Amino acid sequence: MFRNFKLVSRMVFGRGCFNQLDDILAEQRTADQGFMVFLLDDVFTRHRLKEKVPLQDGDQLILVNVDDEPKTTYVDQLTADIKTYADTITGTPCGIIGIGGASTLDLAKAVSLMLNNPGSAADYQGWDLIEHPAVYHAGIPTLSGTGAEVSRTTVLTGPEKKLGINSDHTVFDQIVLDPELIAKAPAEQRFYTGMDCYIHCIESLTGTFLNQFSRSYGEKALDLCREVFLDPGPDADDKLMMASYCGGISIAYSQVGVCHALSYGLGFVLGLHHGIGNCVAFDYLDEFYPAGVREFRQMMDKHQIQLPRHLVAELSDDQIETMVNVALVLEPLWENALGPDWRKTATRERIRELYLQM
Ligand code: NAD
Ligand code: ZN
Repeated sequence: MFRNFKLVSRMVFGRGCFNQLDDILAEQRTADQGFMVFLLDDVFTRHRLKEKVPLQDGDQLILVNVDDEPKTTYVDQLTADIKTYADTITGTPCGIIGIGGASTLDLAKAVSLMLNNPGSAADYQGWDLIEHPAVYHAGIPTLSGTGAEVSRTTVLTGPEKKLGINSDHTVFDQIVLDPELIAKAPAEQRFYTGMDCYIHCIESLTGTFLNQFSRSYGEKALDLCREVFLDPGPDADDKLMMASYCGGISIAYSQVGVCHALSYGLGFVLGLHHGIGNCVAFDYLDEFYPAGVREFRQMMDKHQIQLPRHLVAELSDDQIETMVNVALVLEPLWENALGPDWRKTATRERIRELYLQM
């Protein structure tokens, strides 16, 4: 069976297009009389971007903190806060607008789902468990690389696992891709998030699930990443934003691989953010992705990136076992990387050895 997947319904791309946000939301405000909720990454608390959020009477602006990657408990709390606010003003939210890196975009996706579905976000971690469509939701990235702006998942850390809420309802109704919003991101953060795209491409283009649809988008994303990180020009922000978009779409029919599986374990136990976790893991994966790892090191040299080292050796046995468990749950990633017999190569011992080098 071929996946009949859902794409973002509407998108706008271009420098300065954030200024159109008020017009873009007008249609939604008319269709569904209610208040807009803006979830803005709190890194922008004292930033001009906060002043430019097109708030209208009754709207709610929530500054979200993503020092930790999104947790199901945080999603539940935000959802409850919005419902309390709605009760206070006897209104209903007509849209959730996430403005920030992928952590903030994922919070917006998750909250928009949880406003219309009972229980905790943790109940829906998995594939296609959501029953009711989400509240209208829009994503406005201020970092590029994860592909979260186009994906059908919101990655959450729950009490038991780090796993997305994967569903067609998760996909944004609208995205606003304004390269000016990523222009001032700190160089290291830009690199780590950008490398998420590069690594996605290497993993999917060398994977066993690849088809021509994914190859077409993946190759374009990879070329753009190469230009951005090895030969940058004045339009590097535009290119990085489109690399993330194409990389994200390419994943719809393919899958990531060994690096992402290991990175999830690092994130769950050490709280390492996704982009940096991928970079830490990828540097030890020559045997799986020799050409990609070589080129990645050139990019690190060019951008003078020093990865953190010796993160795992001091951990307890239990913690390392947990990492191995988290990595091994992600069976499709291993199968994509190594084929149907992946269990023969990706043994617990081999994964443990890889972690111990990091
Ligand atoms: P992020 O959203 O976690 O942000 C990283 C840091 O950069 C934060 O401190 C944030 O406040 C800051 N930041 C964001 N924009 C900034 C800007 N313009 N200027 C200065 N600082 C800025 O980073 P990310 O790499 O975009 O996202 C990582 C998250 O995405 C993880 O939680 C990961 O699990 C998730 N993810 C989701 C998907 C998906 O498809 N939904 C895919 C990959 C990763
Ligand atoms: Zn990723």
